[in-house]
Amino acid sequence: MTSTCEDIPDLSLVVPLYDEQECIVEFISQVRLSIDHLPFTYEFIFVDDGSQDQTVPIVIDHCEKDSRIALIQLTRNFGKEAALTAGISHAKGQYVLIMDPDLQDPPERIVDFYNKIQEGYDLVFSTRLEKSDSLLRKLTSQLFWKSLNVVTGLKIPANLGVMRIFSHKFAQEFLRYPERVRFIEGLFMSIGMKRTAIEIENRPRFAGVSKFTLKRRFKLATNAMLAFSDLPLRFVASLGLVGVLASSFFGIFFVLRKMLFNEGLLGWTSTVTMIIFFGSLQLLVLGLIGNYIGRIYTEIKARPIYSIYHTFNLKHDKGEKNVDAS
Ligand code: UDP
Ligand code: MG
Repeated sequence: MTSTCEDIPDLSLVVPLYDEQECIVEFISQVRLSIDHLPFTYEFIFVDDGSQDQTVPIVIDHCEKDSRIALIQLTRNFGKEAALTAGISHAKGQYVLIMDPDLQDPPERIVDFYNKIQEGYDLVFSTRLEKSDSLLRKLTSQLFWKSLNVVTGLKIPANLGVMRIFSHKFAQEFLRYPERVRFIEGLFMSIGMKRTAIEIENRPRFAGVSKFTLKRRFKLATNAMLAFSDLPLRFVASLGLVGVLASSFFGIFFVLRKMLFNEGLLGWTSTVTMIIFFGSLQLLVLGLIGNYIGRIYTEIKARPIYSIYHTFNLKHDKGEKNVDAS
């Protein structure tokens, strides 16, 4: 169903792209096949997050042929969370659906999300029936979600899917959260409003490789729990922890040796143990405080969450330079 320029579409599909040249054409065609015949209007808002491959030319080519396809090209790689934020803030649809273009989440289920939210919800998120990831990824992701829920008190399901739909009202509320370090899953869960979940099957990536390496996932996990920390401070904290543990063993060993065998210099053991223990404890606490200061530093600079280089086919621009493909 084609919408005219001035129309507010029923649905905005926000899709982040980072080196997705192998997936994009198939993704667009599968989405079209799944929803073109349905009685609602829609737009694609693709957000290019600094791709180095042919992603941008491929999308521009589609923009030129179909006015429902828009592209926001960011100036560099800002991360998926920033890319999604850019997309959501430019989505004008009555409902916004976010999904990845790698076809891990099935486009033929878009209609189920759309129908479900019509029942009066503000957010319909997805839980994945079976994760098609490797054992290592499954284990690390379970560990991550479990410990995150314990630390934050959020109740995020461990098998939370990427694909979700939400109302315009929900989107506006999301955009009021100003933080630079954006842990989207946490934000979505803390916004409130009426929500429900539907189960979806999860498939392997259609093509290309996952951009979330173990290292990147570890970083995301740290961000999510402490909001932000930088490496030296984390290192100091780890060093403190190692010192505390080592000095504890050290202390227990010397104290036992003293008690059982009466060996050791008088006063030496307790003094050295105390010095190492408290020294390490101070490092640990300093590192922890440093983590929070690192976060304040990032937030107080209040740098833009993302910067836009070009936009294509965006009908409702909010002041950014709109360079058309033509
Ligand atoms: N992505 C992004 N910026 C990044 C990393 C990833 O926009 O810095 C996009 C990527 O193109 C994809 C989505 O985020 O659309 C999810 O990435 P991926 O499929 O690699 O992650 P996984 O599904 O393996 O967790
Ligand atoms: Mg994926």
